[in-house]
Amino acid sequence: MTAIRTEQYKAAAHQGIADKHLQKALSGFQHRIAPATAQRYLSHGEGPQIRQMGHAIRMHAVEHLDRLLAELADKIDARGGQVFFAEDADAAVAYALEVAWQNKVQRVVKGKSMVTEEIGLNRAMEDAGIEVVETDLGEYIIQLAGEHPSHIIAPAIHKTREDVGRLFKEKLGIPYTDDPPTLTWAARKALREKFLSADMGVSGCNLACAQSGHITTLSNEGNIRMSTTLPRVHIAFMGMERVVDKLRDHAVLFRLLSNAAAAQKMAGYISYIGGPRQSYQEDGPRAFHLVIIDNGRSRILADPEFREILCCIRCAACLNVCPVYGKIGGHAYGFTYTGPVGAVVTPLLVGLDRARHLFFGETLCGACKQACPVDIDLPRMLLALRRRWAEGRKTDGFAGSGSAIEHLAFAAWAEMVRRPSLYRSARQMAALSQVVLPHSEGCLTRLPFPFDGWTRGRDLAPLSRRGFVDRWQERVKKRKGGS
Ligand code: SF4
Repeated sequence: MTAIRTEQYKAAAHQGIADKHLQKALSGFQHRIAPATAQRYLSHGEGPQIRQMGHAIRMHAVEHLDRLLAELADKIDARGGQVFFAEDADAAVAYALEVAWQNKVQRVVKGKSMVTEEIGLNRAMEDAGIEVVETDLGEYIIQLAGEHPSHIIAPAIHKTREDVGRLFKEKLGIPYTDDPPTLTWAARKALREKFLSADMGVSGCNLACAQSGHITTLSNEGNIRMSTTLPRVHIAFMGMERVVDKLRDHAVLFRLLSNAAAAQKMAGYISYIGGPRQSYQEDGPRAFHLVIIDNGRSRILADPEFREILCCIRCAACLNVCPVYGKIGGHAYGFTYTGPVGAVVTPLLVGLDRARHLFFGETLCGACKQACPVDIDLPRMLLALRRRWAEGRKTDGFAGSGSAIEHLAFAAWAEMVRRPSLYRSARQMAALSQVVLPHSEGCLTRLPFPFDGWTRGRDLAPLSRRGFVDRWQERVKKRKGGS
């Protein structure tokens, strides 16, 4: 498993906000991509309800995973491929290393895959003396920089082109340039040699299909197709939820994925892979392995409140609209999955106690649900995680516990909002007493403990002397007087 740094979320978020360089790299990207992807949805013949169609397809698959995975495995097996069900990250990595040793693999070329990030595959292979080369341009950049991806689709979004120019000068020995086509050409030249000499190709899987018995990969660079066809061995990794029932489901989901990920009608390269090279085929690997990874997903599947997160197609649309992600960047989330989807799925995978800051850190603005191409209700699950944490419910993997002060504060709040007169007096008292608090330009600049966190990064508008109920009553009175 990759390193889990979710406990450092708060410190890393503060650091990200203060990092002018990161802010420069992130600025504008959300404004560029989010409106373009939203426009794409409008062009479908099915109308806006295509998102609900996508949701229904994914939910159907999630609820029938046992049958669909068995069908997929049988069909790949019948074509001479080997399927391994890995209970956790260690089992998946051990299987991959065994395959590599058996095939005397020295060099691996790899397509972008979040699940291999999750299980920490690169590190394990490198520790075993195997060279691993990322071939997606963004992944290649961060591999050269010795970093982790900060975005699901655009792993190097936190880097400026000047950063990449300096990195390529240092690592590839080319003259400094920040011209994107020249940099891309330099990467392509360096990677070509690796493709031609690699012993094994590693890929992820966007969505598999039980009916046809294939895994599928989508890319715009063509690098995945090179990784999966040139080397003599191909090993693919997929989270156990990444399968759908029928081939026709792909027609809906791949349009949605391409729209949401890159504002495209369809990705440039779509490959269906169902086993090793057959006798009638001229190219392709001699051996094909598919590793289907659980690593905590069965636990999520068993929980009706959170099962919906398994519908995710990893398009990153929720990251592209999230105001929190847009300020703190992806590294602050401390695990493979970032943004709103990371704030839900990471705590479910690594434990609420280790990753609670992630679901408390989101704003619940609802933009992620609106942007999600398969209409996943992320805000509902963020709230449900907060509730579980506050309740301190202990079930397998969910060992949350709210603080005693918080329990007391919310019990008092619940009592107060049930009694309008008490609520009104408390509000008036608060409105009167706030005059002693530090002010600037009509705003409160510092609240006392334990509310000081609210004003650490921003000023607050003061409480109005007259509350909503008073204003409403006044308005009703005026209307009545006027009629
Ligand atoms: S939750 Fe929705 S928007 Fe976010 S990555 Fe998954 S499918 Fe895309």
